Amino acid sequence: MSHVDTEVRPSNFIRNIIDEDLKTGKHKSVQTRFPPEPNGYLHIGHAKSICLNFGIARDYNGLCNLRFDDTNPEKEDIDYVNSIQADVRWLGFQWDGDVRYSSNYFDQLHQYAVELINKGLAYVCFLNADETREYRGTLKEPGKNSPFRDTSVEENLALFAKMRDGGFKEGECALRAKIDMASPFMCMRDPIIYRIRFAHHHQTGDKWCIYPMYDFTHCISDALEHITHSLCTLEFQDNRRLYDWVLDNLNDFQAPNRTRQYEFSRLNLEYTLMSKRKLNDLVARKLVSGWDDPRMPTIAGLRRRGYTPASIREFCQRIGVTKQENMIEVGMLDACIREELNEHAPRAMAVLRPLKVIIENYVEGKLEFIQAAAHPNDENMGTRELAFGREILIDIADFKEEGNKQYKRLVTGKEVRLRNAYVIKAERCDKDSDGNITTVYCTYDPETLGKNPADGRKVKGVIHWVEASTAKPAQFRLYQRLFTDPNPAAAETVDEVLNPESLIVVQGFAEASLVNAPAEKAYQFEREGYFCADSKDSSPNNLVFNLTVALRDSFE
Ligand code: ATP
Ligand code: MG
Repeated sequence: MSHVDTEVRPSNFIRNIIDEDLKTGKHKSVQTRFPPEPNGYLHIGHAKSICLNFGIARDYNGLCNLRFDDTNPEKEDIDYVNSIQADVRWLGFQWDGDVRYSSNYFDQLHQYAVELINKGLAYVCFLNADETREYRGTLKEPGKNSPFRDTSVEENLALFAKMRDGGFKEGECALRAKIDMASPFMCMRDPIIYRIRFAHHHQTGDKWCIYPMYDFTHCISDALEHITHSLCTLEFQDNRRLYDWVLDNLNDFQAPNRTRQYEFSRLNLEYTLMSKRKLNDLVARKLVSGWDDPRMPTIAGLRRRGYTPASIREFCQRIGVTKQENMIEVGMLDACIREELNEHAPRAMAVLRPLKVIIENYVEGKLEFIQAAAHPNDENMGTRELAFGREILIDIADFKEEGNKQYKRLVTGKEVRLRNAYVIKAERCDKDSDGNITTVYCTYDPETLGKNPADGRKVKGVIHWVEASTAKPAQFRLYQRLFTDPNPAAAETVDEVLNPESLIVVQGFAEASLVNAPAEKAYQFEREGYFCADSKDSSPNNLVFNLTVALRDSFE
């Protein structure tokens, strides 16, 4: 499936705009950027934006920058800066040149703020937060001008310098753009462009105690980097007025082909929370084991769960890019990984809930080794060696004393095929004092290794198994949706929609060839699902496998 996402070029409204801009000569080349705020790990929604921005750059022979939008020092962290870079690379993309930071431009941003003050387009305002809100008005009512709106340029320059030099307390004042308190767009009602924060910054240390706001920073950063198409999600639609206003009013940015903002709808996925703030809350409250918990919709979580970069890129391609808000079914993401793994994952056997089977007519103490294909349709994937002996383990659900027509597994007095090995027949079983079956006694037909019985009798069922003395004990982590509600973001608290069965741990056995299974590499455990060794907790002496996805959708 990995061929799909590199060969087929998607078409969407943004690509149509770019085609037009290249045709008319407005732009000679395309420059995009992916601008995460380093306040959490990237999630599958960010993957949509990454695939869009980097995918456009790739397909148009353009460039894409990675820029950390780092104007909120208190919420940001170098751990996030590092994880974001690793995740973008893992998804298969490389940014142009060095990683960039909005904080690289703090000196210039400060100069541009001074330029606005000099032009009478920005002022230092001393209204407190409540007053500012009150003065702003509502969607129905216009706002009122701040009493500080008409302070002279000289005084504003002095006040802003004093702000920068630490002469005011946090919240005491802020620099605001002087636009229009009656604008129908709330973001144009004299928005704050600089505020005071006595915070240590992960890039600039203690150099600054004033930090620029997102809306002021983003457009200028785009313009300084000669971004041609600045792609963001729909919630910034109104802010486009402010984006353009800031650049319109700065002398450096008057070129007719300067950056323009275009909005697309964000990814919403059923049963999934997609806000870093809410995901952070799950981590902080230890409702999950961390940002890379395999149940998390983060890139790091999906990766640890066994998702591949190609499957995520394919998903992003299938959902497309539009301006319509919508909710994507989780089945779509599952289908992408399942299709890829069905084609590429080697097969193996693991028994999750073991039941002992003794093959009474098999020589005691003997072990034989069977070469089994790693993939039924792909010889190039080679073979692996399976031990077979007198004592094997099967899944507890694969034996019944009495079956019926639908039950095509092992039943007393009947035959079943052991996958890759012989036909066996159940003779009788032992039970413990509670009536639980503890051992099944079977006989095998030595003439049936890889062949049907010679006398033409039909054996319909096939079950998986492992040889008991060589199989490796393994933990299996069975994941389901983290939430019981398709729209967890709408719930009052996450606690009421958390799925208590999102992780079920069982202890079983894996075939010996899996002892060195590389972390994150997917296998199809026959009849059970796709699994990969856990990158944090699995080791040859302590195997731990994560369920990536079941073989089929249980709701199909
Ligand atoms: P969150 O609400 O999860 O914190 P964000 O938009 O604040 O998301 P940023 O770090 O600012 O996160 O996002 C970087 C880029 O990724 C932005 O351009 C943003 O529009 C985009 N993005 C974030 N979430 C989604 C999503 N669900 N679908 C598509 N793009 C997204
Ligand atoms: Mg954000």
